[in-house]
Amino acid sequence: MYKLTNNAQTTTHIISWNMDTADIVVIGAGVVGLAVAAELAGRFPTRSIVVLERNAKFGQETSSRNSEVIHAGIYYPPKSLKARLCVEGKRLLYEFCSKWQVPCKRFGKLIVANTRTEVATLESLLIRGKENGVDDLQLFSRTQVACREPDIQAEAAIYSPSTGIVDTHRLMARLEWLAQEKKVLCAYLHEATGIEHQGNSSIVQYLGPGKEHNSLKTTWLINSAGLASDHVASLMDIDIDQAGYRLHPCKGEYFNLSSAKSKRISHLIYPPPYKDLRGLGIHVTKMLDGRVKLGPNAFYIDELDYTVDVLHAEEFYANIKEYLPFVEPHDLQPDTAGIRPKLQAPGAPIHDFIVRHESERGLHGVINLIGIESPGLTACLSLAKMVGDIIEQGKQEKVVRYL
Ligand SMILES: Cc1cc2nc3c(=O)[nH]c(=O)nc-3n(C[C@H](O)[C@H](O)[C@H](O)COP(=O)(O)OP(=O)(O)OC[C@H]3O[C@@H](n4cnc5c(N)ncnc54)[C@H](O)[C@@H]3O)c2cc1C
Repeated sequence: MYKLTNNAQTTTHIISWNMDTADIVVIGAGVVGLAVAAELAGRFPTRSIVVLERNAKFGQETSSRNSEVIHAGIYYPPKSLKARLCVEGKRLLYEFCSKWQVPCKRFGKLIVANTRTEVATLESLLIRGKENGVDDLQLFSRTQVACREPDIQAEAAIYSPSTGIVDTHRLMARLEWLAQEKKVLCAYLHEATGIEHQGNSSIVQYLGPGKEHNSLKTTWLINSAGLASDHVASLMDIDIDQAGYRLHPCKGEYFNLSSAKSKRISHLIYPPPYKDLRGLGIHVTKMLDGRVKLGPNAFYIDELDYTVDVLHAEEFYANIKEYLPFVEPHDLQPDTAGIRPKLQAPGAPIHDFIVRHESERGLHGVINLIGIESPGLTACLSLAKMVGDIIEQGKQEKVVRYL
């Protein structure tokens, strides 16, 4: 028997737990892994749950490098997991924030159009949104837009009142707290390095904080490793190319708007989405602290790095000047960057989330969550619920939808 130690400096719980088995192991303490841990701890109070996280704290990767938008669910192909889990996740997330005092605000969003083609795009988006169950959308005329945002330029817009912003850090802190309250062990500085499957169990090898190698036997293994979820799947001996699990990291940079100009904006403002849907177009996000962030842009990368290229300010300015005519190039300052774990290869059509119980591969009890890009933050609670349903229904295969 060895010692699995949670010794992250930042958590108030210093737990020492001698164990070599757990009922459930979750890999990754991003917003999705934490939501899964909190959900499973609530549903299965007698089962032992361990979260393995390679970083010293939760949410050090994509979950703290995003726009923090609670999306309405307008864009995604009807019946896709993205559409369904976004619409359900938005409702669950607002309820959660209100119950657990997580700061959030329904700023409302305007998707603006300035050309005939863009107006036509709005009309089809409106239909798609309604098909997805987003029933509060309104088509605004130029005058209606001007009443809400006098300084922006738009001939028409879709108004989405339920789009908002959540404080992602506070959300993750609350999810971690809820999980730990129910005796989930959040093992920071523990990296899953190997996975073997034996009968109906998985043996997860991991590297602990002192660089010691150990292993943990589990009945259920949830892979919510974000940008490394394809690598973690490969540790299970899944051929990720054959399975369609290979991720294509796609970077998104942000620029800040000066505080004087930020005051002139009170909604989230989006252009009509890019045709290839790599992202939602460089948009304007009003943050909870009053700041306005522009971005993210979208470009594929070979190596993960979070620097922001100041030269991209030009591209940002070119993209927003039409609908934000009061912004000058010098108002833009480089901010942060995030990386999308995309299943969609460059030039390929958009791809749905993968949430899959791998029983048909003989990996009973293994659930892979892969390609959890946007709207993964919005959908964290509905994704967690889906994982809980799979476990509750035993080890039956679940339907996976691909686009
Ligand atoms: C630029 C950008 C903007 C976005 N904007 C929005 C938005 O406005 N609204 C929205 O709904 N969504 C948005 N998203 C998507 C959202 O951020 C993600 O869907 C969500 O954060 C994914 O959470 P996660 O827990 O799956 O992944 P992550 O946050 O990446 O967490 C995965 C964790 O797994 C850990 N890990 C990996 N490998 C191992 C291992 N071997 N052992 C142990 N731990 C491991 C990592 O350290 C990491 O902490 C955006 C994403 C990007 C990139």
